[in-house]
Amino acid sequence: MGPQGSGKGTAAQELSNILKIPTISTGDLFRTEAASGSELGNRLKSIIDSGSLVPDELTVGILKQRLLQDDCKNGYMLDGFPRTMEQARLLENISQIDKVLYLDVDFDTVIERIGGRRTCPKCGHIHNVKFAGDPNYCSVCGTKYVVRADDTEEAIRKRLDTFTQKTLPIVEHFRQKGLVLSVDASRTPEYTLKQILKGLGK
Ligand code: ADP
Ligand code: ZN
Repeated sequence: MGPQGSGKGTAAQELSNILKIPTISTGDLFRTEAASGSELGNRLKSIIDSGSLVPDELTVGILKQRLLQDDCKNGYMLDGFPRTMEQARLLENISQIDKVLYLDVDFDTVIERIGGRRTCPKCGHIHNVKFAGDPNYCSVCGTKYVVRADDTEEAIRKRLDTFTQKTLPIVEHFRQKGLVLSVDASRTPEYTLKQILKGLGK
């Protein structure tokens, strides 16, 4: 968990490789559906681009479907879920949560970062033009990066507001249960990953 631009997606990709468990990103699941052009996809696209949350029922339905797939048998990591108390309760009903990672960073830093964010439309790789590497083409598969349609200043501010109101209380809920590993996410992606691995005893 962590605010938009805290580096969740990047850390999750790396951790997936190291821990050998899949990362399930509800944002990615939604974007894939949106790109399919289905009726549901079109509905999702307008919600996402405006910076609002997708309704809980729809979100949980799509996530549950994904968790039934074979690769989730030995565990999984969630990126971008849960974001509301209702989602957290549902998750606690259907799975056992071992750890909650919290990527701690202030909002001024993330607003600046999101301005430089690029995503590969093919493989989902996330890059930031502020860090080293080719700013135009995906370092994993060579496809031209795109700027996400919901990375406008207005949509970002709205998402950060929602994060404060709806998601931060869940972090507190998990903290009281002793599940939270909080790391300083204000520096580089490498530094964030190093602290996570240390905190996990890896
Ligand atoms: P970010 O962390 O930058 O908001 P994501 O890819 O995680 O990016 O999410 C993009 C959008 O997908 C969100 O703004 C929201 O509309 C939708 N979304 C993702 N996860 C959830 C969720 N758990 N509940 C509701 N909506 C979600
Ligand atoms: Zn790629």
